[in-house]
Amino acid sequence: MKSFTYKKPSTLEELLRIKKELKKKALLLAGGTNLMVYIKDDVYREGMIVDIKYLEELKGIREEGMHIEIGASETMAALINSSLLKKTVPLLPESLNIFANPVVREMSTIGGNIADASPIADTAPVLLVLNAQVIATGPSGERVIPLENFFKGPGTTALESDEIILKIRIPKETNGTGAFIKLGLRKGTSCSVTSAATWVVVKERRIEKIRIALGGVAPAPIRANKTENRFRGWTLDKGSLAGMCESLREDISPITDVRASARYRLEVSAGLLAKAIRCSTNLEE
Ligand SMILES: Cc1cc2nc3c(=O)[nH]c(=O)nc-3n(C[C@H](O)[C@H](O)[C@H](O)COP(=O)(O)OP(=O)(O)OC[C@H]3O[C@@H](n4cnc5c(N)ncnc54)[C@H](O)[C@@H]3O)c2cc1C
Repeated sequence: MKSFTYKKPSTLEELLRIKKELKKKALLLAGGTNLMVYIKDDVYREGMIVDIKYLEELKGIREEGMHIEIGASETMAALINSSLLKKTVPLLPESLNIFANPVVREMSTIGGNIADASPIADTAPVLLVLNAQVIATGPSGERVIPLENFFKGPGTTALESDEIILKIRIPKETNGTGAFIKLGLRKGTSCSVTSAATWVVVKERRIEKIRIALGGVAPAPIRANKTENRFRGWTLDKGSLAGMCESLREDISPITDVRASARYRLEVSAGLLAKAIRCSTNLEE
């Protein structure tokens, strides 16, 4: 038999007290678009559902010096409509226009998407190329975790059992352009099979900076560090782009699952990378 209790803390302090006492038995409910499925599917059979969606301390999209900070319980719809994000990190709101569907976008939160640590979480590749950090908080106070070190495997993160995600911090970039390309089984209401995000700074055709992140090709969303390091400083043209796509094989370790085979993911991720670089740099085919 399933056995759940429900609590809606009215302050962050109260939430952290509950988390300290119950640890993994405190099931945080943000938008609930994943959590409710897990409860229905018996992933969880007991615990306290702790409703955090309306907690003021987890809200807000703000400019803080050289960073943009997004409260963990902000929804995808709020991110898409944020004039601050459109102005400062347009890649993030633009990428969310293909997240699930309008109903799910109204419910699902950025904190829930990251905390869930799915290899195919759509915000992950974009936040990885934006060099985002997770601000976690718990009984010992706040700590900053670079997103690149946050994902440990499917459903596993660097959060301690008594910690929560408070906000996501993104450095403001003055140079560069980015793109996010996702391949799903359908166009709408579909999770990614594989996805790619890029951020490049190109000056007089020379690649000054390049950041590449991929979803669905490893146990967690990843940065393609080998390919990035290899091609920094190269001239951006058809030849170097083909080289990057080939080099990607050394960065990724896709698996076969219900959505696609490992081989298919390997081929497709190279295509997505090429498309993302072309989209953000106007490089011709
Ligand atoms: C029909 C449908 C379509 C979908 N399409 C997509 C898609 O296109 N792309 C995609 O990436 N995902 C998709 N998803 C998955 C889901 O919507 C997202 O992962 C969403 O962002 C999860 O956020 P949430 O607020 O609903 O999280 P919840 O379900 O409330 O929580 C998810 C997990 O995160 C934990 N959590 C939540 N907030 C915090 C916090 N602040 N600190 C620590 N832990 C926390 C919860 O305890 C839970 O374990 C889809 C889901 C459905 C049902």
